Amino acid sequence: MPVAASSDVVTENTAPVLDHGFLALDGAFADDLAVVNAARVSFNVASEELSERDEGLIRFLMRDRHGSPFEHGYFRFLVKAPIFVVREHHRHRAGHSYNEWSGRYSKLDAEFYLPDFVRTQVGKPGAYRFEPVDPAVRDQARAEIRAAAESAFEAYERMLEQGVAKEVARTVLPLALYTKYFWSCNPRSLMHFCGLRNSEQAQYEIREYARAAEGFLERLMPVTHAAFVANGRVAP
Ligand SMILES: Cc1cc2nc3c(=O)[nH]c(=O)nc-3n(C[C@H](O)[C@H](O)[C@H](O)COP(=O)(O)OP(=O)(O)OC[C@H]3O[C@@H](n4cnc5c(N)ncnc54)[C@H](O)[C@@H]3O)c2cc1C
Repeated sequence: MPVAASSDVVTENTAPVLDHGFLALDGAFADDLAVVNAARVSFNVASEELSERDEGLIRFLMRDRHGSPFEHGYFRFLVKAPIFVVREHHRHRAGHSYNEWSGRYSKLDAEFYLPDFVRTQVGKPGAYRFEPVDPAVRDQARAEIRAAAESAFEAYERMLEQGVAKEVARTVLPLALYTKYFWSCNPRSLMHFCGLRNSEQAQYEIREYARAAEGFLERLMPVTHAAFVANGRVAP
């Protein structure tokens, strides 16, 4: 599979996310046949093309939670996301690798997430609903977020000009700041991530990234993805 984006350039393998972010499939080595052959090696046999019987095997593996045959694929993404999304994303440990832009080594860009969907929280912890606020409140909230981000970035630049180290100056920057990182995972770990984060319980912003990631899974591994959905979107 092909290489996609390693910059902000939008290609067919780049899904724009939020106002300035994206999820780009930078490389992949993943298909349904690898799942089947990882399972069939138990009997020292292999398929060259995916048959209906193989598709049934994938559904069985998913349903009965035989997870390891789903680990023999590889997705490498370049992600541009606000820091608060990254904090949630990087909690996913098993089968995930990350390398992020360092604010110690280079100056960060003045790019901030300005929420379109400004909402209010209704209900109890664990069962919140989120409803849009009135347009006037939304405009005021967006103005507050923008002003705070701009003011923080001005302070950051002032400190840099005075010779303060980047690692110290960056401490004034807000969670809305965009950063970039490589994220690699296997199909099983990707499904676990999507099950938790492309979910109504997850925060809207990370859900947008998980939805984009799930789209790539569906494109490269359609049978696996369909079985995942049929299994209640629970990873094996
Ligand atoms: C809606 C939502 C709300 C959340 N709220 C909070 C919150 O308020 N505070 C907070 O801190 N986090 C919160 N999280 C993060 C959550 O607790 C997990 O850290 C995150 O979802 C990653 O899930 P995971 O550990 O299953 O994934 P991974 O780290 O990818 O692990 C995958 C699986 O591997 C196994 N595993 C991995 N590591 C271990 C280990 N050390 N020991 C045993 N088994 C292991 C487990 O079976 C695990 O499910 C929230 C997540 C969601 C989706």
